[in-house]
Amino acid sequence: MKILVQKFGGTSVSSEENRKLVVKKIKTALEQGYSPVVVVSAMGRKGAPYATDTLLSLVGENFKRNNPQAIDLLMGCGEILSTVVISEDLFKDNILAVPLTGGQAGIKTNDNYNNAAILEVKPDKLLELLNQGKVPVVAGFQGVSEMGFLTTLGRGGSDVTGAILGAALKADEVQIYTDVDGIMTADPRIVSDATLIQNISYDEVFQFADQGAKVIHPRAVEISRKYNIPLVIKNTLSDCEGTTISHYVEDSDSIITGITHMNDRVQIRVSDNNQQAYESLFDILAEEKISIDLINVFPKEKIFTIASYDLSKFKEIANRINLNCNHIESCSKIAIIGSKMRGIPGVMAKILKALTREKIEVLQTADSHMTIWCLVESKNTQRAINALHKEFNLG
Ligand code: ADP
Ligand code: MG
Repeated sequence: MKILVQKFGGTSVSSEENRKLVVKKIKTALEQGYSPVVVVSAMGRKGAPYATDTLLSLVGENFKRNNPQAIDLLMGCGEILSTVVISEDLFKDNILAVPLTGGQAGIKTNDNYNNAAILEVKPDKLLELLNQGKVPVVAGFQGVSEMGFLTTLGRGGSDVTGAILGAALKADEVQIYTDVDGIMTADPRIVSDATLIQNISYDEVFQFADQGAKVIHPRAVEISRKYNIPLVIKNTLSDCEGTTISHYVEDSDSIITGITHMNDRVQIRVSDNNQQAYESLFDILAEEKISIDLINVFPKEKIFTIASYDLSKFKEIANRINLNCNHIESCSKIAIIGSKMRGIPGVMAKILKALTREKIEVLQTADSHMTIWCLVESKNTQRAINALHKEFNLG
């Protein structure tokens, strides 16, 4: 049996018109002799009647804080609704589909509600359905805890469902269908002439995903890499070949593969007015579970960034331990990614020149073997990404 996992995102299942295209993709897989396992997200994006955010707005903040198990059950409803609606669309086309929750599909997790980790996948029921010639339609983004409660896998978790089912079923391929042609050199909403990357390695795409490109969840990339399952990103709304992700990718001429970014960063500068607190600051932040990055340590100053949602907690800590600090809110961490930049001189210089030309102040930089990061104020993000995209001829 040639198994294909096809995951459809929020936009793909949002309207009757789009769902017709979803059915077409599934039909094509069947015609090609594949046994498809379908994974679906909740219908539509923020604001849509059954989108995750809308469901969350049904209850108040106090209840949310105190009832994580109930909230996961609430959040899981969006994907469950999608499974039934898509099953009807398939039914109308004489395709026998069976809607399932993540738990019914065999996905077992721990009970870390809202961000549960997958412990095990038992694909017996899916295999049984496939053997009967049926098309399982699985609710993405969810599993079941050992106690039998519904758990959710964190935002973007339907990609993880697709990847983990692909691994458990030893699928020929996992296809992630979304509303763009594949992985592009930059988010097409930010750079209008961003181009499609047809082939990319797991390592590079992981870096993209991890550094803010929403198009695929980094865990989904990790799982597919680990189990060696080809991962393809495709557009439900077009017939484009999409982006194929694999271990080996032929050399291209370009040093830079693409650019992505993360919003909502805050740059912090701490001075050593209280030597003892200054020295133990990073330990204290680790204990308080505040993660930091872009860390530069000087004899009398430490500079780093935190997520916006940690800022008030950070301020409390700084007050408590009596440390002087300044911060710049609303920063973006731009990541310029390319596995071939290692050892090539002048890349950082080129980046800084392009940003200076645009009169964009660079607040901090960092680099690793395949990524260079620049921190800028968020009001400059779009201009900065466009300038860099142009500088490296990615359009
Ligand atoms: P889905 O609901 O299908 O999971 P997402 O919104 O999670 O879709 O991901 C698709 C979106 O990712 C695109 O609409 C696009 O704006 C965004 N995106 C960000 N960076 C990139 C990139 N480098 N290439 C393609 N899309 C990107
Ligand atoms: Mg997504």
